[in-house]
Parts: sequence; structure tokens; C-alpha cells
Amino acid sequence: MPKDEAKREGALMVEDLTEIARERGIRYFLISYVDLFGVLRAKLVPTSAIAHMQKNGAGFAGFATHLDQTPAHPDTLAVPDPDSLIQLPWKPEVGWLASDVWCDGQLIADAPRNVLKRQIARAREKGWQMKVGVECEFFLLNKEGTHIADTLDEYPKPCYDQLALMRQYDLIKELCDAMQELGWGPYQNDHEDANGQFEMNWEYDDVLKTADRHVFFKYMTKTLAEARGMRATFMPKPFNHLTGSGCHMHVSLWDGARNLFDDPQGELGMSPLSYQFLGGVMHSAADLCALFNPAVNSFKRINAPITASGATWSPNSITYTGNNRTHMVRIPEAGRFEFRLMDGATNPYLAPAALLMAGLDGIANNRDPGERLDINMYTDGHTLQNVRKLPLNLLDALRLLESSEVARAGFGDAFVESYIKLKLKEWNAFMSHASAWERLHTLDC
Ligand code: ADP
Ligand code: MG
Ligand code: MG
Ligand code: MG
Ligand code: MG
Repeated sequence: MPKDEAKREGALMVEDLTEIARERGIRYFLISYVDLFGVLRAKLVPTSAIAHMQKNGAGFAGFATHLDQTPAHPDTLAVPDPDSLIQLPWKPEVGWLASDVWCDGQLIADAPRNVLKRQIARAREKGWQMKVGVECEFFLLNKEGTHIADTLDEYPKPCYDQLALMRQYDLIKELCDAMQELGWGPYQNDHEDANGQFEMNWEYDDVLKTADRHVFFKYMTKTLAEARGMRATFMPKPFNHLTGSGCHMHVSLWDGARNLFDDPQGELGMSPLSYQFLGGVMHSAADLCALFNPAVNSFKRINAPITASGATWSPNSITYTGNNRTHMVRIPEAGRFEFRLMDGATNPYLAPAALLMAGLDGIANNRDPGERLDINMYTDGHTLQNVRKLPLNLLDALRLLESSEVARAGFGDAFVESYIKLKLKEWNAFMSHASAWERLHTLDC
């Protein structure tokens, strides 16, 4: 059978990476996976060895990364997904690949990409496809990460500042050109609400594709900033007095070419199904906060006091609204929700997995999101009775996740328990570390 025909016929037939390498001039592959804490791990593999790795996976000691394994476990095997291939725009002889992660002949329960793919499969059983657009805010710092790279960027209300944006033109252009070349459909770049903070937007797409791109965007931004003597960080709240870095996710659910969230008859143009999905996310938002806001530092961005610019732009309560940026969920236009809770530390796979899992629960249980609120939450939030608040720190968030029946049913106990176990270890490490703040406030007690 001719090759093209064979490819078309067997949807299961996998693209041959050796052949792709030959066609595109790839000399090395990065076989990568993202661990539970969002760290990108990889092996650099010469093309001559890729055929074996494509079939059997690249071997890692999972315990040496943030995965729930012991030093005695057999190899963690990262089996690359050829559909995720991206040639580094600044070094096209290297091809980057996201992977599915196996151990002992099984997909492991706590590898984030596996977790997302499981939720995607659950949605597919109903005939649904989630599409997501992500807004990754980041700071450009000096090499050491101690200060904002651009020392002239100090205006107190710096959002959309043209001068500050254009001082970083060389880097922003390089990143935007790369996204254009990769076919992501980038459409705008701006200076955000904090000094040194930027955002670059590209078009939404299938949830797995967006998640892989999200991982690659972070890697690319850090790498190209480093090449220019800077350090890009997605840390949620690097400076106490400045707005933190969010990672808003825009979500819709599709059946083929039909957006199931669209409904011209519905409230704000949104369908009954979309409000059930929203009801599920509102129901579990506090329980899933440990996934949306996974760092100790995350809780300095949400529930935060007002910043130098005049607003934190992050939520403090579990509320939704129309086109109003002071709530946890915004409906900017018909056909999609914007979830504004996540921050730059959120795992690119676990955040959309948690949204989809909660949305599916909302649909299955016909959950009611309650009334839409059109108030300014930053000035009038305190007037509300019975509004549910977000957890105040990582430990509280982890305890909520641990006892969440929805999360246990939707993700499975194994994932929830692994996540809690590793994150509690991190919390305990944090608690055993006395900070500069403590010295300042306690030295003379
Ligand atoms: P804002 O700053 O107003 O919140 P941005 O323009 O920065 O919005 O980002 C909007 C994101 O939402 C983009 O990635 C865009 O492609 C995406 N988006 C637009 N429509 C949909 C949709 N129907 N489903 C999912 N994402 C969408
Ligand atoms: Mg070795
Ligand atoms: Mg934006
Ligand atoms: Mg923004
Ligand atoms: Mg937004």
C-alpha cells in the first residue's frame, strides 16, 4: 500500500519521527514531559536513536522529578506524541515533543498530560471537545531575577504603556514572529498592569493543543529572554506592591463545528449547557484552587490588597459576571467563559483538566451557578451576604482538594492522593524555613 494511503487509512498509524527528521532537517529531539509541579523535564536524543525511543519511550528516574515515585521504581518512560512536534523557531535542527508517561506497562496516574487526556476522553464519550485560549502573563527581570529588567519601567499605572512595550520590542517581536511561523495565530502583545509585566495572545484551539503550546510558550519565552540577558518569570506574585501574573483561561465546548455554549436565546448568549458547566466550576472552584493556584506564592496574588496600579485584577470570591473583570468568572461575549482564578504557576495540563472535570460534573449533576453579579467586586464585594470565599493559603487549599468528592470521583483517588502527598511535602519545607518577614516582625519580641 502506498505510504500516504496507509497513513490515511490507519488513524492509529503513528507518524514516523525518523522520516520527519530527514524531511525537515531535525538533528536532535527533546523528548519532554511536565511533572506535577509544572517543571519541564527532557532528554535530548539524536535522530539516530529516535526510532527506538518513539516506540519504547525515553527513560527517566521519576523520583528525581516531581512525580509520586520512589528511587526503587522501574524507569518512567516518556513516549513522545508526534502530533505535538514543534521545531524550535530559533534552532530548527531541534524538534520538541510532549510525551505520555508510562511506568511498569501503565500510563501513570499523576503525569499531568495523562490526567488531561483522561478528561478529554471522558468528554469525547459524550461527543464533546473543549477548546481553550490561554493568557500567560509574565515579568521580564534582570538575569538574577531580583529586579525589573527595564529600569525605566517605573510608572505607577503602566498598563499598555507604549514606551515600556517598545523598549522590549526586540524580544516581543522575536516571540511573536515565532508564534506566527508556528501557525498559532498570535494577534496582540501588550505591556500589562505591573511594571515589567507583559502578555502575548494567540488564538484558542483544542484543549490539548493549547496545553502543549502553553508549555512551549513558557519554555520559549524563558529561553529567548535569557539569550538577551533577562529572566522571564511566570511567578504569580514576584513583587508585593505590583499586580501579579494571572493565567486566564477562556473555554468553550464543541460538537464538531458547533459551539455548544452559544445560544442567541440564552442569558448573555450562553446556552443552558454552558450554565451547567459553569455551575460545576463554581461548585468546585475552592476545592480545585490547589490546582489553579498551586504555589505558596499563589495566595499572595488572590485575596490580595490593592496594588500600586489601583486594582489587583484577581478574584477573591466565587462569583461570575458579564463583561466585568472584578469577578472569578467573566462572560466577555456569547459562547465562552473566562476563568480568571489561575495564575502563572498553574500547570498547563492540570488547570484545563480541572476545568473540564468540574464542567463535566456540573453537566452530569445539573449544577446551578446561581445569580450573575454585575457589581464592582473590588469596591462592593463586602456588601454581599453568603458569598463563598477562596482559600487563603496553600494548606487550606490542599485540605479542600483532599476532601473533594467531585475531584476524587472525576480524577480518581490515585491522582488526588499523589498530588496532596507531594504538595504537602512542599508546604512542610516552606514551613520549616524562617523568612525575612518573620525576622523583621519577631527579632525584637
Ligand atoms: P482578555 O484580555 O480580554 O481577557 P485576550 O484577548 O487576552 O482576552 O484573550 C482571549 C483568549 O480567548 C484568546 O486566546 C482567544 O483566542 C480566546 N477565545 C476567544 N473565543 C474563544 C472561544 N469561543 N473559546 C475559547 N477561547 C476563546
Ligand atoms: Mg543514567
Ligand atoms: Mg488578555
Ligand atoms: Mg492580562
Ligand atoms: Mg483575561
